[in-house]
Amino acid sequence: MEKLKKPPLERKWYYCPYCHTKIVVYDNTAKAKGLYIKCRTCKKEIEIRI
Ligand SMILES: [Zn+2]
Repeated sequence: MEKLKKPPLERKWYYCPYCHTKIVVYDNTAKAKGLYIKCRTCKKEIEIRI
């Protein structure tokens, strides 16, 4: 049976805490630890904590 309903993924934006630019999209199954992304707008390195 291929008609199993998957729980809908809720997608959200992760915003830069400094300049509030959208950085990355994640869904509600995401778990991040020790992940760093450099913001393209303010050039600061941000630790993604989801
Ligand atoms: Zn920024």
